[in-house]
Amino acid sequence: MFTQINCPNCQQPIAINVKRLVAGDSFSCKGCSAKISLAGESSNVVTKAVNSFEKVAAQAKH
Ligand SMILES: [Zn+2]
Repeated sequence: MFTQINCPNCQQPIAINVKRLVAGDSFSCKGCSAKISLAGESSNVVTKAVNSFEKVAAQAKH
């Protein structure tokens, strides 16, 4: 399952696999190489984006 979020750094759309993200994987922005993950500083942006798409992120908060 893929969803798209905007890079918190350069606003470029990034395709992320939600399942892998919740499992702890991180993704890199193609525009600025920012790291997107639930554990990093982008976690708020990612959580919001994922929540609006699926409720999967809620499971990662346990
Ligand atoms: Zn970026």
